[in-house]
Amino acid sequence: MANLPERLLSGHRDFITGRYVTERDRFRSLAREGQSPDTMVIACCDSRSAPEVIFDAGPGELFVVRNIANLVPPYQPDGEFHGTSAALEFAVQNLKVQNIVVMGHGRCGGIRAALDPAAPPLSPGDFVGRWMSLVAPIVQTLCGNALVTGSERQTALERICIRCSIANLRTFPCVQELERQGTLSLHGAWFDISSGDLWVLDPQTGDFERPESG
Ligand SMILES: [Zn+2]
Repeated sequence: MANLPERLLSGHRDFITGRYVTERDRFRSLAREGQSPDTMVIACCDSRSAPEVIFDAGPGELFVVRNIANLVPPYQPDGEFHGTSAALEFAVQNLKVQNIVVMGHGRCGGIRAALDPAAPPLSPGDFVGRWMSLVAPIVQTLCGNALVTGSERQTALERICIRCSIANLRTFPCVQELERQGTLSLHGAWFDISSGDLWVLDPQTGDFERPESG
């Protein structure tokens, strides 16, 4: 017998009698014509930082990949299984998105794990530990200063990792080329779960600022 948690079944019942009804035409035209989102978002898996919720986006608007701590690994065509790179390749080469937004968030568990590399692995595979080792050199630098508090390190690493992911995006030849042509823009943002505020990366300074309300 088909089985899903009751919360999901009732949620879908609400969707099909509510949001789907008001957006039926949009869903049907998306099914007929395919998707053409102009923005890709690279976000964390964290259940509190869903891009579609934060950006109030409808179906077909955002092409989203989520992974632990919204990291982008550097370009590495080595025949291994690169899920994030595959999503990036599809977004850039097939969908031809014009924007890529790397969105981090406060109180990120992946970042917390990276700041505590001596903690025992969650399983023998230590997939989180291995994944977060992408930013190990940054962690070393941050943890080397005893005057920086734990929570300062946490926020700093969340924001540094966004800049690091953007730098790694630029190691992909297709991203480099399209950015040079001016048809692709890279952006960074950091979401404050508690206040709902979005801090946006200033590409000149690398600082995060709250945008003027428009
Ligand atoms: Zn996170």
